[in-house]
Amino acid sequence: MAAVSRLAQPSRLSTIPSYFKALTSASASASASASASASSSSDLRSRGVQWVFLGCPGVGKGTYASRLSNLLGVPHIATGDLLRHELSAKTALSNQLAEIVNQGKLVSDEIIITLLSKRLETGEARGESGFILDGFPRTIRQAEILEGVTDIDLVVNLKLPEQALIEKCLGRRICGQCGKNFNVASINIKGEDGKPGISMAPLMPPPHCASKLITRADDTEAVVKERLSVYNEKSQPLEEFYRSRGKLLEFDLPGGIPESWPKLLEALNLEEHEEKLSAAA
Ligand SMILES: [Zn+2]
Repeated sequence: MAAVSRLAQPSRLSTIPSYFKALTSASASASASASASASSSSDLRSRGVQWVFLGCPGVGKGTYASRLSNLLGVPHIATGDLLRHELSAKTALSNQLAEIVNQGKLVSDEIIITLLSKRLETGEARGESGFILDGFPRTIRQAEILEGVTDIDLVVNLKLPEQALIEKCLGRRICGQCGKNFNVASINIKGEDGKPGISMAPLMPPPHCASKLITRADDTEAVVKERLSVYNEKSQPLEEFYRSRGKLLEFDLPGGIPESWPKLLEALNLEEHEEKLSAAA
């Protein structure tokens, strides 16, 4: 059940092709029998959770993944961070990666899975157990490769209605001086067709930042809508992949963090976990 190190691990990029072949053949025999309930407490005792977080841009996936990783004591592994970390290292792979990124090309699945494997292996050597993946997998192919590398217990798909996502993106502001992120959108969407309404309070800047706010050039309604439609098109097959394996947990965020966090813990059977933690603190 443990992570990657059960398979022979490549440490250099040149070893990827044979490794990749081994991974894809392993995935063909992977079992599809898991159920989409959150890990039982016995799982949590024997090893950390091995979860994936999905969600469209702007949904707050990184925030929830990071909070849960703190709560559960497992690393929050974001693909973007892995790439940035590798780029800052001076390895053969980082030179190759820099070339790809500088040419504006997409980083291949093989490179990302290699970085992820390296990260999981290093973590395990440090005594880490479990993980929450954020930003990977993005495609069915990546999911199949991942299946050959490690077991995924649960895939949490965070969702917000499109209107809320658009308003949230349009409300984003960054302080041009200190770089802090704020959100000036005050979201109040009425419930419809039996679905509950959604309220999200703005995150207003302190006075010393208020006069220095900038809006990202690509946070326009047209760009946000386009980003969402690209995401939806790509993510639906991936969601179906995990749904068919009984691993997908759909979670409609009921609002901002204050409303959503307790509900998310409830959906993940973690309310007790947090109570124990706060009692121990
Ligand atoms: Zn500021």
